[in-house]
Amino acid sequence: MSDTYARSNLAAIDAAHHLHPFSDMKKLNADGARIIQRGEGVYIWDAKGKKYLDGFAGLWCVNIGYGRHEIADAVARQMKELPYYNTFFGTTTTPATLLSEKVVSHAGPHLNHVFFTASGSEANDTWFRMARVYWAAVGKPSKKIVIARKNGYHGSTVAGASLGGMKYMHEQGDLPIPGIVHIDQPYWYGEGGDLSPDEFGLKVARQLEEKIDELGEENVAAFVAEPVQGAGGVIIPPNTYWPEIQRICKARNILLVADEVICGFGRLGEWFGHQHFGVEPDLAPVAKGLSSGYLPVGGVLVSDRVADVLINDVGDFNHGFTYSGHPVCATAALENLRILEDERLVERVRDNIGPYFARAWGALGDHDLVGEAVSIGLMGALQLAADKKTRMRFEKPDAVGALVRNHALANGLVLRATGDRMLASPPLVITHEEVDEMIRITRIALDSAWRELK
Ligand code: PLP
Repeated sequence: MSDTYARSNLAAIDAAHHLHPFSDMKKLNADGARIIQRGEGVYIWDAKGKKYLDGFAGLWCVNIGYGRHEIADAVARQMKELPYYNTFFGTTTTPATLLSEKVVSHAGPHLNHVFFTASGSEANDTWFRMARVYWAAVGKPSKKIVIARKNGYHGSTVAGASLGGMKYMHEQGDLPIPGIVHIDQPYWYGEGGDLSPDEFGLKVARQLEEKIDELGEENVAAFVAEPVQGAGGVIIPPNTYWPEIQRICKARNILLVADEVICGFGRLGEWFGHQHFGVEPDLAPVAKGLSSGYLPVGGVLVSDRVADVLINDVGDFNHGFTYSGHPVCATAALENLRILEDERLVERVRDNIGPYFARAWGALGDHDLVGEAVSIGLMGALQLAADKKTRMRFEKPDAVGALVRNHALANGLVLRATGDRMLASPPLVITHEEVDEMIRITRIALDSAWRELK
């Protein structure tokens, strides 16, 4: 490592100059940021040499694990050959074009086009405009409103944060922007009351139809949701939910947008979350697992229905980013997809490590602090509960989640806390032994928190 990076006072420099996303900055400056310096497989090391099992794959993204030199080598070759060129004004590069073919080859049969971005937020901004442009082009310009879900997450740009249903994000910056409304999430544990999960799934799906009636079908452009809501707490919808949503979108002629930023590229044991639920979206934002986070790249998968109109009727979509289809990022994504394919990592989640994780993680449901332990593919949640039998929640959910998370960290495991739900999303390459280690440390963290709460 060069001298420039080997500074011993990094925490002080960070506190003095670095404004962090989604962090209590006063506390962070007092405590000092955790400085992560190395990664290999499912493990990361901080600047003090402490090793952690990364049970969260960075931010739900390092699907192939850390330290894959194949990506570094491919990226270095591309950097030397052509570090940058854009895809504006009728131009492209070899990696961008090859990636367009590769990425759609794994999606539903009707998703045959992609518009590239550098992030998931940009991807959400992109389809938001694209949906309006589509409806205007087919002679229905009043179809502008997007229906999204409370507690959903679609990024941090103005449209992304507005589409998301996080109240604490809306409170900052006067969001949501006009033209975006929210319906309930399919969160049975917290909001299902006395209904069975299947009854509740139908009930919340039908809120979409009620909302369309209220707004007028002629004013609604699209419905957006994550196949499994991630940042909102790994909210796995009841079985009845997605088929009903699909039915309503078709019957009422509104575009269905599946935000695949987390679920895409194997997380649920299929290439995309919409395939797991048997749904056919018209648009699907992607990012994260597209490059396993090695370089920033995202995009919107676009169905033939929308692409045909964009190409033949709109012609010039006045939208794009300097880094749309960036050749080095596209190279990283191509190599990442090659690894996912060659090592059959998606199939491995479906047939092997996913079921193993489900059994091991599910067993944590016997803990006194855990109201339910659920998982799908390699995505899991533990609902912490004050009373398991009555599904009673804690008065200060954030404090309980943070307690468990901090005990896990102290014992060498990264988990995420969203309020009183503990979330896991390890790299897809995790071994059986590493899953056992994750579960062992999670149990230690739960025990320690339980003792403190009593
Ligand atoms: N959509 C979903 C479902 C996400 O989980 C995220 C990020 O966590 C985003 C969009 C935003 O992606 P990015 O942070 O790359 O802008």
